[in-house]
Amino acid sequence: MALLARGSRAVAKFDDPRLSALNAEAGFQDAGMRHALTSALENGEVARASYNVGAHVWVAAVLTDRALILVKGAVRAKVMRVPLPLEIVRGPAGPKKGARVRTPLGVKTLWGSNLDADMAALLAGQAGAIAEPVVRPVSVLNKVPGDAPQLVETLGEHDAVAPTIEERKVPVRLTRRERSEARRRAGKKPRRPRLQKAWGAWVGFAPPSTIWDISYNCVMCGRALSNPNSQRHRVGTDCIKRWGSQARKIRNPALTAWEDRKARAGIERIGRQVEFDAAYARQRAEHEAALTAWREVRAGRV
Ligand SMILES: [Zn+2]
Repeated sequence: MALLARGSRAVAKFDDPRLSALNAEAGFQDAGMRHALTSALENGEVARASYNVGAHVWVAAVLTDRALILVKGAVRAKVMRVPLPLEIVRGPAGPKKGARVRTPLGVKTLWGSNLDADMAALLAGQAGAIAEPVVRPVSVLNKVPGDAPQLVETLGEHDAVAPTIEERKVPVRLTRRERSEARRRAGKKPRRPRLQKAWGAWVGFAPPSTIWDISYNCVMCGRALSNPNSQRHRVGTDCIKRWGSQARKIRNPALTAWEDRKARAGIERIGRQVEFDAAYARQRAEHEAALTAWREVRAGRV
């Protein structure tokens, strides 16, 4: 009895006749989502099927006779309406037979409908199925005879009858051959430029800051000193007994020279870095343009 009662309640999920078809679907168990869907429905809009959206529990999609309605969230459900024609990025595939559709939430996999198990209704709502078949620029040129005035005329006719892809603003899925051809024409993706780092010239390790003051004459009596030890103490062997060592340390002139070299290397480094920065800014602008052009070729739009 309990099972039966639950079953009968599930059948009465939607009282609205516009949504009665969805009673056969598994989704929309949540009252908040049901309410959001009902209030988003336009007058006379009839639901055809509902789908799971990817692996999201609180997102569902409903296909109506005029739009794909996405219901997201339960407590304060948000409804997004994708007017037909839909952009089907990839047809039904995989174990769930899910089709990839471009939605405001991104490209999502729609699957798991009871009413539209083979996704025929969803695919019928896509761009190619509703609009007339798109004439690609390549095929137009192939059909055109060699005569130049006729070519212009024929192109004009085609523009009037079937606008080009750019005018239609409807993305067209290229064929495998066209994709591979576009890939070949586009070649390698332009490499992102790197900011080069300027390194300072190597000036060696810093010499000691002080050195012994060497004297070649005794600072007390002026006698010439030949002993290196006496030269360091700056006094002769007799005077050292009376006056003691006169050794002292002075600032190392090599350090001053080294500091000069280091400062010059630093200035040079900054100069080179400024050049690198300017080159990097230039390369980035060039790369941006090259990347845009590459993407256009790669997508087969040019
Ligand atoms: Zn002396």
